[in-house]
Amino acid sequence: MTRILKNYIGGAWVEAASSAQTPVINPATCEVLAHCPDSTRADVDAAVRAAQAAYPEWRSTPILSRVQYMYRLKALLEDRFEDLAKCVVEENGKTRDEARGEVRRGIESVDFAATVPSLMRGYKVEDISSGIDETAERQPLGVFAAITPFNFPLMVPLWFLPTAITCGNTYIIKPSPQTPLSMVLFFEILDELGLPEGVVNLVLGGKEASIAVMEHPGIVGVSFVGSTPVAKIVYETCARHGKRVQAQGGAKNYIAVMPDADMNATVANIMGSAFGCAGQRCLAGSVVVAVGDAYEPLRDELVRRASALRVGYGMDETTQMGTVISDEARERIERMISAGIAEGAEPILDGRDAKVEGYEQGSFVRPTILDKVTPEMSVARDEIFGPVLSIIHVPDFDSAIEVINKSRYGNAASLFTTSGKAAREFKYRVQAGNIGINVGVAAATASFPFGGQKESFFGDLHGQGLDSVEFFTDKKILIERW
Ligand code: NAD
Repeated sequence: MTRILKNYIGGAWVEAASSAQTPVINPATCEVLAHCPDSTRADVDAAVRAAQAAYPEWRSTPILSRVQYMYRLKALLEDRFEDLAKCVVEENGKTRDEARGEVRRGIESVDFAATVPSLMRGYKVEDISSGIDETAERQPLGVFAAITPFNFPLMVPLWFLPTAITCGNTYIIKPSPQTPLSMVLFFEILDELGLPEGVVNLVLGGKEASIAVMEHPGIVGVSFVGSTPVAKIVYETCARHGKRVQAQGGAKNYIAVMPDADMNATVANIMGSAFGCAGQRCLAGSVVVAVGDAYEPLRDELVRRASALRVGYGMDETTQMGTVISDEARERIERMISAGIAEGAEPILDGRDAKVEGYEQGSFVRPTILDKVTPEMSVARDEIFGPVLSIIHVPDFDSAIEVINKSRYGNAASLFTTSGKAAREFKYRVQAGNIGINVGVAAATASFPFGGQKESFFGDLHGQGLDSVEFFTDKKILIERW
């Protein structure tokens, strides 16, 4: 019988209060891997109470002792590296190498958390008035939570939990019900790590559990990563309930290519950006803005290479592109391609109705390239979140910037060029939080904040880096006269 997943609360695996469940489906084989409970307010409340109970002692555990858990966690994650990658492939559909990359990035966040003792330092000024000294010191705040998406089921929760707990807070993760298994395995590893009961908690479920997290008075702050419509809801709801919130939303990422770019390297980078993880990265390149004479060679080479990509089951090491997350996602992506064509885009590579031998029921969309796209078309404006690349041809650099800055999103943008002047202008003028220069996926590493502007981010302190230490701590001011 397929297992029903449990929540991890107060150091124990417990059944969710609700008997409602969502099947977790391998999107390539269609096998039901497990059933994810639709946890309720009562489950969230139990997790909050466990996290609150654990907080006072955890907070006063010396920071150098808290950090030791990160070193041990890193070792445990390295030991289970391949198991974690396999789990990501099975529930998400990406390739094994992409999953390995995800696990590696996740471990880098644990490395970062080990630097928290130096980043948590406060500051002091003597004699701000005669005989009076002033100090700012950072303190943890209590119980934090994260609501995370399906596309990086291991890495995204790791952007938050290690830093939050090393800062002295206790934590709750509410992962996507489509991909809860990586978090279940991660919590099995955390269980082995032997943190005090209640420091880390896992509540599985969907919207109802999310709402309970956003509204619970015992949670002081929420980190959200997911689509823009939900990010807006999370930002507003958390603010209404007096919480700190950082909400990373959806994206529409543009890649501009100048005629002076190194075409070979450019195409290789765009391929990885647009079709890596089957286009289901928030940093995926979605629209190529080809400037002047860059257009023709770029278009032809993209089609040549994209049509040669081996699409298949991620567990097969020869697969270069896996599935999208679900049949529902496949249908949405195909509908969006059809809408683009109806608006005048020309499908020079059409990935609809894909069939992969041996996985006939799998949720596959092959690489798709739409030419003759204009900035007004839906395929140029809306997030597709699939392996679909649109090409817009513009006469010059300024027109490229204009097209990019029209977007309501501002997650990432890249420029391919050999001109330093163009690169600087691009970085200076483009309204996006992550900029790539001759880099197709401008993914911030763990010690830098993950950028995002406009409708791609709601909040002020970003995930990762020093921003995350700011988010997970408060600055208390002490003014002393003796
Ligand atoms: P999603 O918004 O559907 O779900 C994200 C999380 O929110 C899940 O845990 C889900 O259960 C919960 N949720 C869904 N509907 C909700 C509601 N109405 N109220 C409260 N919670 C709700 O996103 P997804 O489909 O899992 O992930 C894909 C999206 O995430 C894409 O838009 C992608 O661009 C975005 N993303 C952004 C970043 C970033 O850093 N900006 C990173 C990864 C993914």
